[in-house]
Amino acid sequence: AKAAGKNCAVAFHPDMDRDESHRRYLERELRGALINGEISIELQPIFSADGQRLEGAEALARWNHSYRGRILPVEFIPLAETSGLIHQLGQVVLRQACRAAARWDGPFVSVNVSPLEFRRDDFILNVRAALEASGLPPERLVLEITEGVMIENADHALHAIRAIRALGVKVALDDFGTGFSSLSYLRKFELDALKVDRSFVTDLDNGAEAATILHCVVNLGRALGLSVVAEGVETADQARFLRAAGCHRMQGYHFGRPMPLAGFEAHFGLAPDG
Ligand code: C2E
Ligand code: CA
Ligand code: CA
Ligand code: CA
Repeated sequence: AKAAGKNCAVAFHPDMDRDESHRRYLERELRGALINGEISIELQPIFSADGQRLEGAEALARWNHSYRGRILPVEFIPLAETSGLIHQLGQVVLRQACRAAARWDGPFVSVNVSPLEFRRDDFILNVRAALEASGLPPERLVLEITEGVMIENADHALHAIRAIRALGVKVALDDFGTGFSSLSYLRKFELDALKVDRSFVTDLDNGAEAATILHCVVNLGRALGLSVVAEGVETADQARFLRAAGCHRMQGYHFGRPMPLAGFEAHFGLAPDG
């Protein structure tokens, strides 16, 4: 066995991906975590562009490991995807997110969907079941998909997006601009929102070219009638620029970090009935 030393986090170092027995060990741990309720969500606020109104929250998966502490998605989502556990994990997150938002008066909840989940035939059924179990009105659920879903099987993706929107659920294209995006996708796939990837926002600090690109991306989304969300907004300067550029919504550390449910509700005065 490899000596992990005092820093247990080393057990998750990507270099060990090639270590098959270690991968299987982690997979067993994740399977256990799903059964034991170690997977929960944090919620990150999404504000109106003027920063005045809480419009919704993105649900982000967290693994609260019994002795390793908190493990972030960058480490366990890929593992969940290669092991097939992503379907179970996605369900856990979706149900927690819907149950949470059903308690609130107004804000939507936005849930990340892996392309692997999205292409499964039972996905829509699971979404409908989560809505019914929680009582959340469908129009207060947003599903965040990535360009990946469109590349593999565009016909199926289009069909699935239509079925989701027929339920009344909204669909957002996440990490926009980072993938292989052909602009034709944007027109073909009937989306509600577009999330401009954080890298574009970060780039703003590096000069005029980045600002020009960002203007184009925002205008493109607006021209297609989509709600444009900027992610990874970390400074007041970025927020000012993005608002002037025409973004509808803002998300990022400047507006609030992901928080556990209880803290999120307390901070924003939601669910006063507890
Ligand atoms: P994402 O969907 O792009 O989510 C936004 C990520 O950016 C989150 O990281 C969030 O904590 C982080 N973030 C938000 N604002 C800022 C900011 O101002 N600055 C910086 N530097 N970062 C910011 P997190 O929670 O570590 O999640 C990483 C990725 O893991 C997500 O990226 C998403 O792709 C994936 N993920 C998270 N939860 C789920 C889930 O339930 N299902 C699936 N399939 N994927 C998930
Ligand atoms: Ca997302
Ligand atoms: Ca994103
Ligand atoms: Ca991202």
